[in-house]
Amino acid sequence: MAVKQFAYSEDQNNLNQKNTQFVYPLFLIFLIPVLIILNTFWELQQFQKINATELQNKTILAKTIFASTIADSLNEEDVLQEKIEKITKSDNELQEITILKPIADGFQVLASSNTASLGAAYKSLQYSSAWAEDKDITILTPKEKGQEQNWIIISPLENSNSEKVALLSLKISTADANALTEKTITNSLVALAVTIFFVLLLLFNYSHFFEYAVLFKKLKEVDAMKDDFISMVSHELKTPMAAIKGYMAMIFEGVAGKVDQKAKVHLEKVLANIKRLDALVDALLDVSRLEQGRMQFDMQSVDICEVLTAVTSEIDVQAKEKKLKLEYQPLPTPCPFIFADPERLDQVFENIIGNAIKYTFKGSISVYHRIEEDQLKTIIQDTGIGMSKQDMKDLFKRFYRIRNEKTADIPGTGLGLWITKEIVLKMNGQIYAESKEGIGSIFTIVFPIVKENKK
Ligand code: ADP
Repeated sequence: MAVKQFAYSEDQNNLNQKNTQFVYPLFLIFLIPVLIILNTFWELQQFQKINATELQNKTILAKTIFASTIADSLNEEDVLQEKIEKITKSDNELQEITILKPIADGFQVLASSNTASLGAAYKSLQYSSAWAEDKDITILTPKEKGQEQNWIIISPLENSNSEKVALLSLKISTADANALTEKTITNSLVALAVTIFFVLLLLFNYSHFFEYAVLFKKLKEVDAMKDDFISMVSHELKTPMAAIKGYMAMIFEGVAGKVDQKAKVHLEKVLANIKRLDALVDALLDVSRLEQGRMQFDMQSVDICEVLTAVTSEIDVQAKEKKLKLEYQPLPTPCPFIFADPERLDQVFENIIGNAIKYTFKGSISVYHRIEEDQLKTIIQDTGIGMSKQDMKDLFKRFYRIRNEKTADIPGTGLGLWITKEIVLKMNGQIYAESKEGIGSIFTIVFPIVKENKK
């Protein structure tokens, strides 16, 4: 009872520990919308930057185009004024064009689309430095309430003789670009809200997936507990069964007094049943070892003919009891080697040949080999009850037994073929079966041939 309690609390601990693994997918699920949000804002920022640069470039391009048109008309102020007004009207973004000429202490407006400023004189650091350093100056006016934001470019103008003669000041509105940015922001936020809504909807709808995941984990835990339980019970059964077998042997030998014939018959039945129980416990132990990956394999080069000679001569007693002929045709020496655990190989062949004897009522069991390329096939063929195609579908599954009139009185666990298949696969072999109901069955076990000294 105490042991059971201990095992439970340990499992519970395990379960709690493993459930923390759900934090990770949950974290991912919440991370996705957060990443979408961050990505949207980052993209918007990038868009705004690109937009600003584009507008700045546009301002510089406008300056380059106008400079040549305007510079040659500098001496005719009326023509210049007319040209400026025409250009300003043709472009919505172009807010103002002003031409200034240098005067003694500053710059005077020569022509401007803002006619109110005509003739006005300005002292400005930007004008002076554009003139003195002979370079373009671009300024983004600050955002103020009720006022449009503008890009201003101030650039010196040269006449056809490449003489610096005036300053050009262009004012380009950012209103259209800002409107486009705002529209993009609104669209992105709507798309973001819709995405998050669907993510949440999906989360809500599929929340039971988490329940299934927890359930699946619990099932695995329970399955592991079951394996542990089978393994523990099987081990515990081994000791009393060994004692029973020992005492039975002593009784048979007459240690406890003479056993009369009638009692012997009953005792033999007891012994046969103990052997069955022993085989069942062994099978259960193998199942739990294989399932938990605890079965040990001492792999080495094995002379398969030697193994089969030993197995067939040992098992021949059973065949003889049923008046069946068990024939083994070893390959001519030297017999090819395979890489396997000899004891496990023994177990595999005992099982398949044992089945052939068990499910055959008259006739024979033949064991022989075929070599195909670098593969060694061992064939176990019987003239037994056979199996239908339908019955063979689950042949290598755990606890599978074919139940019909012919098999009704044959004892078995349905574990032999599963264990055999698992062992063969673990030793890099293959196993398959062919059968015809009422005619017999053929089991083929295939292993790659190896050089004798493979380690
Ligand atoms: P069991 O303990 O029942 O023999 P196995 O896993 O060894 O378990 O075999 C599974 C089932 O396959 C058996 O119940 C039997 O119906 C069928 N079977 C196995 N070998 C043969 C055979 N050589 N001939 C006919 N049926 C067989």
